[in-house]
Amino acid sequence: MAIGGLLRLFERGPEPGHLDVAHNGETYRIAIARSTRSRRFTLRVRAASRDVLLTIPARASLRSAREFAERHSAWIGVRLARLPRPAPFEHLAKAPLRGVDHTIVHRPGARGVVWIESGEHGPLLCVAGEAAHVARRVGDFLKREARKDIEAAVARHARTLNVKPMRIAVRDTVSRWGSCTSTGRLSFSWRLIFAPPWVLDYLAAHEVAHMVHMNHSAKFWAVVERASPDVKRAEAWLKAHGPSLHRYGAE
Ligand SMILES: [Zn+2]
Repeated sequence: MAIGGLLRLFERGPEPGHLDVAHNGETYRIAIARSTRSRRFTLRVRAASRDVLLTIPARASLRSAREFAERHSAWIGVRLARLPRPAPFEHLAKAPLRGVDHTIVHRPGARGVVWIESGEHGPLLCVAGEAAHVARRVGDFLKREARKDIEAAVARHARTLNVKPMRIAVRDTVSRWGSCTSTGRLSFSWRLIFAPPWVLDYLAAHEVAHMVHMNHSAKFWAVVERASPDVKRAEAWLKAHGPSLHRYGAE
C-alpha cells in the first residue's frame, strides 16, 4: 500500500486533501475535492460535518486553491460562526421528539433505560444508569423511535401506492434526508425523528413514490401529492429547519 501510494504521488503530484487557512487568529481546515465536472472554485460550509469543502476543477493548481480560500477566509469565518451550536444529549439539555421539545433528565437510581414522562414545563426524556451512558442511551432510543415511525409511514404509503419496498435503512445521512434505489431500497436519516410527524411522513411518501417514478417529473410529484397532503409545507420546513437537526447529539 505504501508503494502504491508513492507511485500515485509521483504520477499525480502530492494531493494533501485539505488546506489550513489562517484568519483573525483562527485556523480553518478546508477539505479539497477535485471534480472533472466543475469549472469554478466552489466553497461550501457543511452543517452536518461542521466543516468547509472547496471543490476545484480537475486541473486547478493547489496554489490557486489556497489563494481562493484565503481570499474568502472572512466569509468562511462568518458562515462557520453561524452554524447551529452543537446540542449534546446531556442532563437538562433539550431535544425535540416528533417536533416537541423534551428535556433530558438523568435519573441515576431509577429502573429502566429511557422513557417519557410529563413534566411541569413540558415532556421529559428520562434516562437511567450512569452519567457516562446518558448520551448513547438517548441516541439509541431516538434511533429506535425513528425506525418505528419510518417503517410505519413507509408501510402505509407502500399500501396506498401499491409497491413493495425491498429494505429500509435508517442511518445518519449527511446530504439527504432520504433516498430510494431502482431496486426499492429505501434509506432515511434517523434525525427525522426530531421533525414534526408530517415532515417524516412526507419524506416517506417521497421515497416510496420513487418506486413508481424514478425521477422528479410532474408525474412523480402528482404521486407524492396523492400520498401526502403536506408536500409544500414539509419541503419548506426542511429547508428552514433541516440543517439545525444535525446539531442534536453532536459533541
Ligand atoms: Zn426524490
